Amino acid sequence: MPELPEVETIVRGLAKTVTGQRIAEVRIETPRSVVNDLPGDFTELLCGETIAGVTRRAKFIVLSLASGCTLTVHLRMTGRLIVERAPAEDPYARVRLRFQNGGWLRFSDMRKFGRMRLTTDGLWAAGLGDEPLDPAFTPRRLAGLLAGRRGPIKSLLLDQHVIAGVGNIYACEALFQAGIHPARRADSLSKARVERLHRALIRVLEHAIAMRGTSVEHYVDAEGLEGGFQNNLAVYGREGLSCLRCHAPVKRVTIGQRGTFYCPRCQR
Ligand SMILES: [Zn+2]
Repeated sequence: MPELPEVETIVRGLAKTVTGQRIAEVRIETPRSVVNDLPGDFTELLCGETIAGVTRRAKFIVLSLASGCTLTVHLRMTGRLIVERAPAEDPYARVRLRFQNGGWLRFSDMRKFGRMRLTTDGLWAAGLGDEPLDPAFTPRRLAGLLAGRRGPIKSLLLDQHVIAGVGNIYACEALFQAGIHPARRADSLSKARVERLHRALIRVLEHAIAMRGTSVEHYVDAEGLEGGFQNNLAVYGREGLSCLRCHAPVKRVTIGQRGTFYCPRCQR
């Protein structure tokens, strides 16, 4: 599933290419891939709209429309949003938008869990947690979020109601960078370790954005290109391979039903 750095990369690509574009045609290939919270027909409402801006909230892609409404996209497992000059052949194309300038936006989704949603206010999921790259997300704030949480730190990092945008890959990588065992109780971290985790989270997310995301499965950016951070992964997907720091074999365990990679020697 695309996480914060991948969604951010897609958003930056879209912002450059579709901002100011007027939607001339809407083709819905798979009706269940679209959700309409507004009175009226999805296609009719969207036709003639101009995209005023593209931003990210958590793992949501938020296209603000000139009318004040919002088209929000969640890619879930296999969704892709690709800008192209002509509509490419794609058996997984769910929605296609044609712009007045002749360009196209293709929402492709092999597993059909992704959604394109028309809303009045852009707020799709209520109760989203902190944005980890927001200046308000400080070490002290993180300490407050961890206080009284008895579950494993890894599961807490994945909880979108606590910290938004972090998924399995970056939770594993940040915990490795911080030297924290993923099963450790969230409320058991010392102040120094919370500060290390805070620094590691921001560093790994910013580094991954700079590398334009991680392509381990389906992710491609808005131009259809793969990211580069998969070559920088220290533990994720490296079960049995030697730790880059201490050479012990990287382990994989299941925490909160998610495959979790860590170094048993570096992470305590
Ligand atoms: Zn190690």
